[in-house]
Amino acid sequence: MMTAWQVHAPGPIAGKPLRRVEIPVPEPAADEVLVRVRACAVCRTDLHLAEGDLPPRRPGTVPGHEVVGTVERVGADVSEPAVGTRVGVAWLRRTCGRCRYCRRGAENLCPYSQYTGWDADGGYAQYCVAPAAYVYRLPTGYTDEEVAPLLCAGIIGYRALRRSELPPGGRLGLYGFGASAHLAIQVAIAEGATVHVVSRTEAARDLALSLGAASASATAPPEPLDSAILFAPVGTLVPPMLAALDRGGTLAVAGIHLTDIPPLRYEEHLFQERTLRSVTANTRRDGREFLEFAQRHHLRVATTPYPLDAAGEALADLAADRVSGAAVLSFPPAG
Ligand SMILES: [Zn+2]
Ligand SMILES: [Zn+2]
Repeated sequence: MMTAWQVHAPGPIAGKPLRRVEIPVPEPAADEVLVRVRACAVCRTDLHLAEGDLPPRRPGTVPGHEVVGTVERVGADVSEPAVGTRVGVAWLRRTCGRCRYCRRGAENLCPYSQYTGWDADGGYAQYCVAPAAYVYRLPTGYTDEEVAPLLCAGIIGYRALRRSELPPGGRLGLYGFGASAHLAIQVAIAEGATVHVVSRTEAARDLALSLGAASASATAPPEPLDSAILFAPVGTLVPPMLAALDRGGTLAVAGIHLTDIPPLRYEEHLFQERTLRSVTANTRRDGREFLEFAQRHHLRVATTPYPLDAAGEALADLAADRVSGAAVLSFPPAG
């Protein structure tokens, strides 16, 4: 048996939608590995799942899709990764490999894709199973707690940065500065960008400046932007962000969930070839590229640790913007 947290009754986090349970250790299928979990970062998507912004796809699912652990056992058809390997289990769990999107390298758009912690149990547990072809080798030089947030916050921030079409030496705006943005800023600066951060949280603005942001404001960037990424799940920010773009600029919305966007005015928000685009999950290629980047450039990963027992508190703190960097659950050794 193992300890795990399940989304019991999705609803406001104050109502404690997670329930702690003792359930059997899962069995890996033929193409899966069993991972003994060492750390699992807490993503805003977990909060959306717990609160029901993303409707449950099956009852009593264990959330968590930034899972670091070691391979404990492998299914009959698995040759890699071997038992004992340190691996990461992330959001994209399976794709069909046959649809028009998968065939053209856009598996993030696969209509048959499955997600860890939504379609199958994730890492708020002492063990989880995952398809061997979708787990990642991890960069060295990071603790389990440091590497966990790279697996969603990092990968999604990386894809959002690519989707924002930042030109070489360009001016980038990041709106909302949590786990994902604090990693994306380091990639952008390493690639030569000037980065302006907008966040309503003072601690987040301080973190941004310490990581090399050119400015950090509670309201607006000090100059027009070539590219911007919206990390906060707040649709009312879209019109002012579009207005803050320079001619030809691109705004990428990084989140899986966004509150409604108010009406846009063509002249003010979109004309002069400004572009608004979404970011939908990621491909395994995005994940490998980002983790290779993290091997070449050591990233500073800001984490706030929680014991596995405090998963509900970690989500409540995330909901209230009380987390600096990434919240990470760490695990006592399984008995
Ligand atoms: Zn597909
Ligand atoms: Zn996530």
